[in-house]
Amino acid sequence: MKNSQHNHSKLFSITDNPIVIAGPCSVETEAQLAAVVRSIAEIPAVAMVRCGVWKPRTRPGGFEGMGEAALRWIATLKKQYTTIRFCCEVASPEQVSLALRYGIDAMWIGARTTVNPFLVGDIAAALSGSAIPVMVKNPVNPDINLWIGALERLQKNGINDIAAIHRGFSTYNNFGYRNNPLWEIPIEFKRLRPDIPLLCDPSHICGQRNLVAPLAQMALDLHFDGLFIECHPDPDNALTDASQQVTPSQLSSLLHSLVVKRNNDYPPSDLLRFRQQLDSIDTQLLQLLSQRMRISANIGAIKRHHNMAIFQPERWQQVLQQQVEAGQRLGLDPQFVKDITEKIHGESIRLQNETQ
Ligand code: PEP
Ligand code: MN
Repeated sequence: MKNSQHNHSKLFSITDNPIVIAGPCSVETEAQLAAVVRSIAEIPAVAMVRCGVWKPRTRPGGFEGMGEAALRWIATLKKQYTTIRFCCEVASPEQVSLALRYGIDAMWIGARTTVNPFLVGDIAAALSGSAIPVMVKNPVNPDINLWIGALERLQKNGINDIAAIHRGFSTYNNFGYRNNPLWEIPIEFKRLRPDIPLLCDPSHICGQRNLVAPLAQMALDLHFDGLFIECHPDPDNALTDASQQVTPSQLSSLLHSLVVKRNNDYPPSDLLRFRQQLDSIDTQLLQLLSQRMRISANIGAIKRHHNMAIFQPERWQQVLQQQVEAGQRLGLDPQFVKDITEKIHGESIRLQNETQ
């Protein structure tokens, strides 16, 4: 990705030159912050450092952020690095006034705050008159109106340099992601509010650092206007979100690997709709496979109880034939159906053996 020079008065815009915001999940110590800012300042594509100053923890007992001390360290660094901006999460009017007092350049409202219209209203009122850029993460639940509503509350208070951040949605079983991306929701967001820049936070969607790059690319392919990525000088020893943070050098190569495709050779809305359907079907396939494996483990327990052999050749022959025939009726290639049925059966046998 190129250097993001934004030559207009607003920080956020609908753009072919996506803004990159990166930084630690949490500010932990003055030295940790200084180290990450020093490295990030050398990556030209990054326009702003994200800093977790107050950390919303789902369960009590974890690290809750350094609060005002972190703001002090940020204010000191701002004097040293005059071209880089700093942003932090705010979750109350008190936090807004502290962040403003320390000269923070931008703020964001977190997913656990966006769900609460009273709180968002109070935060918006505290921001009123500040002209500060503000981002709003999607609420933890997949409610697009709650998300748009929070942005509208900011606009009603005269905050117009705004952006939305897609960070995925909480589900009971999220099948490999920390938060289910449900891409159809940010796509619908863009349709309903094409005027509001939309950023993607791949770090909180995937929860594991090796998936940050493909998710970031997916977001760029869907015409997002920026990326919001967690970056820590020593991710494995981070006090929060250790598994999803990347080092500054990983961030730099990740940003180099991303491609901004902006050709209009195909009608993008059709492509997006089809991709969205595929993603949804793939998720359902995994959900069904997971359900099938759980049932298979139960069958394993019954076989064990009754001293039955795990592999029953006649039953297997019958299942395979049934599947190939059913597949043919659905227009599927017999060899393909045979291959996937064998794979699924093999995994069932493996699971049943494991639970012996
Ligand atoms: C964060 O950005 O560190 C954070 C707490 O994110 P979210 O509100 O998306 O969970
Ligand atoms: Mn985090």
